[in-house]
Amino acid sequence: MPELVSLGPKPPAAAPANAGPRRTVFVHTFGCQMNESDSQRMVELLGQAAWSPVSLPEEADLILVNTCAVREKAEQKLLSALGRYREHKARRGTVIAVAGCVAQAEKERLLKRVPYVDFVFGPDHLAELPGMVARAARERFAETGWMDSEEYLFPRADPEAARGRATAFVTAMKGCDNVCSFCIVPHTRGREVSRPAAEVVEECRRLAEVGVREVTLIGQNVNSYRGGCDFATLLRRVAALEGVARIRFTTSHPHDLSDALVEAFRDEPKVMPHFHLPVQSGSDPVLARMRRDYTVAGYLERFDRLLAARPGIAITTDFIAGFPGETEEDFEASVRLLARARFDNSFSFVYSPRPHTGAVRRLGSAPEWAEVPREVAVARLERLQAVQRRLSAEALASRLGSDVEVLVEGPGDEEGWRRGRTPHNHLVHFAASEARAPAGALLPVRVTRAGGSSLSGELR
Ligand code: SF4
Repeated sequence: MPELVSLGPKPPAAAPANAGPRRTVFVHTFGCQMNESDSQRMVELLGQAAWSPVSLPEEADLILVNTCAVREKAEQKLLSALGRYREHKARRGTVIAVAGCVAQAEKERLLKRVPYVDFVFGPDHLAELPGMVARAARERFAETGWMDSEEYLFPRADPEAARGRATAFVTAMKGCDNVCSFCIVPHTRGREVSRPAAEVVEECRRLAEVGVREVTLIGQNVNSYRGGCDFATLLRRVAALEGVARIRFTTSHPHDLSDALVEAFRDEPKVMPHFHLPVQSGSDPVLARMRRDYTVAGYLERFDRLLAARPGIAITTDFIAGFPGETEEDFEASVRLLARARFDNSFSFVYSPRPHTGAVRRLGSAPEWAEVPREVAVARLERLQAVQRRLSAEALASRLGSDVEVLVEGPGDEEGWRRGRTPHNHLVHFAASEARAPAGALLPVRVTRAGGSSLSGELR
């Protein structure tokens, strides 16, 4: 049930936070695509209540900081961002709110710790945002209770706000029922709840109607989706929509990579040939301590099935370096796995002890849970990333001279350039006017240069 925490009436603000006919909001987003999507929904919801987004915090009547708790560093970044926003509050009475996973984990503690934060709310309360902003004029509060599956209303994308965009996120599920010992997400996002398939498909249809060509279905553990059908069936239902040209999804757990999902990759060309499949470690004992419920051999078996079903598919992953008890040998196994799988890209981080997790409770309790010294973990991370940089550069270089279909997303970094993505999710820059390459167009581009993290080319 929702949990209500009020810290009493507010002292008067220096200036009215909602002065002017149309008020302004600045959103600062940390973390994953789930957070990016939630931030978009917040802007859309406030847009319906006469709020306009601005790109500078000093111009905002409301600053929303949407947080991530996956790594300790993200929390430190939140505190330093809040420190910067304090002066705007002093100057123009800006209301400051904190959303997302840190808000959920810290609850009213955050209000006590940062006295100039006006309100705090967890991910399940996003739909109440306009009401909470009004309430913030009267009191400071934290809304961080869970919604169970019957109560929970998934935030809907506003198709009008997506008009003119090539891509959009569509929430398919939320929460996670796994108990990976390093991960705070089950504590901050709660149990899995899947959105009814009809609702997901209808949202995709309405987005396609306003010109969105690519939808990314999102959820913390999206391939365990159970909203009246399995995830593979959901993908096929979205693929059946005429205006949708490309489908992506994130993020997945290897144990939910079913045969049906592999077959969807084999049969459905609208499902893009890119799969983010986090492995976390190349060592079985480490995977067991992480509670990842697969072995390296089991992971590779799924990996090979995917490659066989969709030759050339780009598979990306996550690694953690320096997990408790990780030996040199365990780490070498991760490097070997990286070299064997030749991941298209990987996101790797030093292990960060998070509250409320199994690993932090056991840290240092036995030799196999020994803390890895930070300098050792950082050196391992750098080694892993150096190997990945080489592999990613080779993957990009292999596209040189080929023609790729690019979905145009918008302007490039330089005047007269546009940017878009290939089916394999590689960023491509090319020279063209907006008229020739409008957002949402699918255009052939000949790859003429491969950098470390993106391609450039010429329109065919
Ligand atoms: S699957 Fe594991 S790592 Fe992913 S969100 Fe759930 S608990 Fe965290």
